[in-house]
Amino acid sequence: MAVAGELCLFAHSNALLVSHVCNVLEAAGIACELRNMSLGGGAGELPLSECEPEVWVAACDYTHAQLLLQAALHGPDDMPSAWRCQQCGEMLDGVFDTCWQCGTPRDME
Ligand SMILES: [Zn+2]
Repeated sequence: MAVAGELCLFAHSNALLVSHVCNVLEAAGIACELRNMSLGGGAGELPLSECEPEVWVAACDYTHAQLLLQAALHGPDDMPSAWRCQQCGEMLDGVFDTCWQCGTPRDME
């Protein structure tokens, strides 16, 4: 059922990770297709490499999708959200655990 102009963007044995990637792409407006998602149970006869869940995207979206893929795999930890110090009101990048201005620890959200 291969469709012309589609490319396999990502494949991984962890179906949760694959569907996470798909969710990120769809949230960004890129149509994607999951394949091999339903073979986990009775796939004993197939080599693992042939039943890994895959994410496919249109060829024209491939480059953009690759960037989103990198962000999806490494994103939240590399780019924590900014926060505001409760003590002095300073806006701080998410990489800081404490306020550089007054030393107040970041509140758990
Ligand atoms: Zn502060």
